[in-house]
Amino acid sequence: MSVRSVCVQCGAEKELPLGRCAGCGHVPTRGEAALAVLASTRVLSAEELDEVQRRIRRGETLRPSEERLAVAAALLSGRGKEAPRTLKSGEEAGLVALCVLLTPIPALAAAWSWRDTPAGRSALRVAGISAVVDIGLLIAATWMN
Ligand SMILES: [Zn+2]
Repeated sequence: MSVRSVCVQCGAEKELPLGRCAGCGHVPTRGEAALAVLASTRVLSAEELDEVQRRIRRGETLRPSEERLAVAAALLSGRGKEAPRTLKSGEEAGLVALCVLLTPIPALAAAWSWRDTPAGRSALRVAGISAVVDIGLLIAATWMN
């Protein structure tokens, strides 16, 4: 679904929240960036956006909630409200195989690159498990010799 947004200045529909308005030529300033992202379907539902559009056209000042502005600011900073990275079961199995065959280093590397996401925590768990397995294999190999 494409993103709809409206100009915070005149309420005209536009393609990109931070782009130039074809209606009035307004380009959101840095200070207006969060508000401009907020006035789009990236944050609001289509119905809510229609209401915001009506308010702008009536000349009302937009007073979004702190919560909404925080969502818009998060989108702007690239953190977004997209689902956090998680490991698919196939990926986790692959990582386990890789770590058991080699070392826990790939899982540690994965945990680092996906840090602060559920995928990072999964990778860290895999690293821990494979470290134990590796040590177990090492001990077994030592005993067999
Ligand atoms: Zn405009």
